[in-house]
Amino acid sequence: MNIEKYDEIRASLPAGVRLIAVSKFKPAEDIALLYQHGHRAFGENHAQEMKAKHEQLPKDIEWHFIGHLQTNKIKYIAPYVALIHSIDSFSLLKEVNKYAVKNERTIPCLLQFHIADEESKFGFTLEECEGMLQSPEFQQLKNIAIHGVMGMATFTDDQEQVRREFHHLHQIFEELQSRYFLQNPDFKELSMGMTEDYPIAISEGSTLIRIGSAIFGPRNYSL
Ligand SMILES: *Cc1c(COP(=O)(O)O)cnc(C)c1O
Repeated sequence: MNIEKYDEIRASLPAGVRLIAVSKFKPAEDIALLYQHGHRAFGENHAQEMKAKHEQLPKDIEWHFIGHLQTNKIKYIAPYVALIHSIDSFSLLKEVNKYAVKNERTIPCLLQFHIADEESKFGFTLEECEGMLQSPEFQQLKNIAIHGVMGMATFTDDQEQVRREFHHLHQIFEELQSRYFLQNPDFKELSMGMTEDYPIAISEGSTLIRIGSAIFGPRNYSL
């Protein structure tokens, strides 16, 4: 846990950019420490882990779901999740809407785009996404609110490639905004940038950066 690094990142953020502290694989105690330091927005990528932490920790924490979400896990996060960054299919969005109805709330969501040149990253293509946004079925989803887009750049040392990918995501954001969300002030978030690439993401227009290891240290995936 590196509070100085946290303070340094916070101090460097331009107005309009928020920091999501990615606490996946880290114990609730680490989250509690950063909470005591004044931080409220945390990101997790496993639904059950988020649920367990939500139960243990103060209720004014804003929980951001940032990982691939399986439909049978939505129930663990639907009652309280602040923002799902990782909507990567129409079928997932429809299921999230169902659980939002059950919980009598609206769930804010971001549409995840595949911008990296890696196979493993989930996300829409622009074509798939527009197909969804134009469908009457989409119009009927009353309990989700689309707040913007999210993406992950390729894991590479090539800074220019990372910049191009973030730039591309920003273009997608603007295209969708102008075609489908002009009347919708909620559509304003561009979630991009992690420990290794957040300065580039910010210079390409990010509004939400998701930082884990710079703050909490390296993760031990065997836990
Ligand atoms: C783990 C993760 C992060 C944070 O990664 P760091 O490199 O540790 O900052 C951000 N976004 C997503 C989607 C993640 O899964």
